[in-house]
Amino acid sequence: MKSIRKELWFNIKNRREYINITQEVNEVLNQSGIKEGLCLVNAMHITASVFINDDEKGLHNDFEVWLEKLAPEKPHSQYKHNGYEDNADAHLKRQIMGREAVVAVSEGQLDLGPWEQIFYGEYDGLRQKRVLVKIIGE
Ligand code: ZN
Repeated sequence: MKSIRKELWFNIKNRREYINITQEVNEVLNQSGIKEGLCLVNAMHITASVFINDDEKGLHNDFEVWLEKLAPEKPHSQYKHNGYEDNADAHLKRQIMGREAVVAVSEGQLDLGPWEQIFYGEYDGLRQKRVLVKIIGE
C-alpha cells in the first residue's frame, strides 16, 4: 500500500473565507502515483472546515447568511467561550460545516461528482492556517 501526507498552507486575510482547494488536492494525488484508494482532506484547526459543494459565489453568500443566523458572530458576549477569545461563533460554524471530506480515488482521479469541489472554510482567519491531505491506496 502507498500513502502520502501533505499539508496545504493558506494565509487567510479575512475572518471568514472559502477557498477552493480541489486543484491543490489533485496535485497531491498526482504526486502520490496512487490509482485506487481514498483521499482524506481535513482542517487542522477547530474554527475551520473542509467540505464539498458547488463553486458558486451566490451559494457561498448563502452559507454566510445561514451560518450567521445559526451562530452569529456578535455580540461576542453572548457566548461563554468568549472570555479571552472572541471566536465561539467560529467553533460552532465549523461544527455545522464539518471537519473533513473523504473522496474516492478511481483510475488515478479524484472521483467527484460533476459539480463537486473541495473547499476550505475559514471562520476565524487573519492568520496562517493549514489543511491535511492524506491519501492511501495503490
Ligand atoms: Zn476558541
